[in-house]
Amino acid sequence: MSSRHLVFLGPPASGKGTQGRRLAKDLNLAYLSTGALLRRALRDGTELGRKARPFLERGEYVPDEIMVPMVLEWVGEQSDGWLLDGFPRTVPQAEALDSLLEVKPAAIILHVPDDELRRRVACRLECVECHRVAREGEGAQCPECQGDLEPRADDASASFENRLAEYRRLVIPAVSYYCDHQRARIVNGMGSPDEVYARVKG
Ligand code: AMP
Repeated sequence: MSSRHLVFLGPPASGKGTQGRRLAKDLNLAYLSTGALLRRALRDGTELGRKARPFLERGEYVPDEIMVPMVLEWVGEQSDGWLLDGFPRTVPQAEALDSLLEVKPAAIILHVPDDELRRRVACRLECVECHRVAREGEGAQCPECQGDLEPRADDASASFENRLAEYRRLVIPAVSYYCDHQRARIVNGMGSPDEVYARVKG
């Protein structure tokens, strides 16, 4: 893994958060999950949360005009390497990120078949405090921060199907963008978190 500017792309429940957090920790990279940031804003009732709520509730993507300045500001504040989980999700987002950087980011794309994604969301729990995804059998509290483990509202079936459709419509072209620029690595996301991580590390 030579680049210290990484973006993680993949459909909902493909393991972006689990793998991204682990890789960022191992490589000592700053980590930002845009989805977790938005869910926290909703919970805290901030201005961002108020703007993002209707989109998240419908399982739609938050508009680029809201996402791009927010993420570019965060990237601009980093003095060393970073990893973005869930950004970019559209070609304009990928272009905006590229335009900010001299050394362009490398993309890791997690590939998981739809049936497996549906199986995963049906039983997925996330910590409401630190947004870490729970592992099987972890009980009701997050072992890292003791926050409550709860299902994500946007994992409910109708919302999830919308997110999958949004992924095909908007993110697949962004995946092609990174492939066209020879900056993409597609990783098989099937198997246990450890098996997938071994592939992610390459
Ligand atoms: P995630 O936790 O990555 O699955 O993201 C959850 C939700 O947050 C998505 O379904 C979108 O509604 C929103 N979201 C996260 N990142 C972005 C982004 N880069 N662009 C637009 N919407 C986003």
